[in-house]
Amino acid sequence: MHSLTLANGRQIPQLGYGVFTMSSEEVARCLPEAIAAGYTHIDTANAYFNEVAVGRAVRASGADRESLFVTTKLFPQSYPYAQCGPDIDASLERLGMDYVDLMLFHQPYGDYVEGWRAMEEAVDSGKVRAIGLSNFPVRKVEQILEVARIKPAVIQVEINPYWNQHTYKAALTERGLADAVFEGWYPLGHGDKALLAEPVFRELAEKYGKTPAQVVLRWHLQEGNVVFPTSRNPEHMRENLDVFDFELTAEEMARVNALPQHAYYTVPEEPPAFVLVHNDYSKQA
Ligand code: NAD
Repeated sequence: MHSLTLANGRQIPQLGYGVFTMSSEEVARCLPEAIAAGYTHIDTANAYFNEVAVGRAVRASGADRESLFVTTKLFPQSYPYAQCGPDIDASLERLGMDYVDLMLFHQPYGDYVEGWRAMEEAVDSGKVRAIGLSNFPVRKVEQILEVARIKPAVIQVEINPYWNQHTYKAALTERGLADAVFEGWYPLGHGDKALLAEPVFRELAEKYGKTPAQVVLRWHLQEGNVVFPTSRNPEHMRENLDVFDFELTAEEMARVNALPQHAYYTVPEEPPAFVLVHNDYSKQA
């Protein structure tokens, strides 16, 4: 498994397993299988309502906690300074873990500027090893950078070959985040059949004896993205890990990056309003 180095000096496996849209029962069934297949990086969130199941499956797998990289995310209701620390503790309690490797602010609303101080304090106390932002437009990342003692180590946004985020990445690099690691959600286009049917992916899949999905994941890795495709299918789980024995040429990367930039679900400049919903995360099976 190839890893990237975070600003805190720790390693983040570049390919992980995401559990968005998975029920607790699905996590209980699929996550041990994913860990057994070789995944060492898990991406969850308060808002996925499956942290309890993730923690349980990790313990049941028998994997050494230090060998795993676990990310979770806080929703805007947790950002006020006085709320943020207790909600980080609540997340750790649901996961049954002493620390998480990465904690993200999930959406760019509410008191994220004052909350950032509580995130930094969680790093100081060892409850969280790295902190970052998800779905934050450039101007809101700037607001965090103005107050940050610890800069975001990770920026998680939607990235796929139809939405490569080159402009967004360049803007943040210019603003002092050159050492941030970018994570791409919906890396396979969230099941968009048109993406995997693109002639360039079919052709490269044939050339390298891989599937179009593997070629897309390989493109992500060579773009420097960290990705964690979701799969409930053991064959896909294994397939998605098997992307480290071939390499796209510079010309092939350029062909992928010449695809039209038209397919995305959310744009960092205008994330969807549904994120304002407040939830009670304690209600988990
Ligand atoms: P994805 O692009 O990974 O697509 C998953 C879909 O692709 C599923 O339908 C799956 O069956 C299919 N698939 C998986 N492997 C395949 C293969 N080898 N061949 C063909 N089809 C395959 O999108 P996703 O799963 O929704 O997102 C990945 C992860 O990103 C989530 O689990 C979550 O961790 C994260 N995420 C974060 C945010 C955020 O706001 N921060 C939002 C969405 C998702």
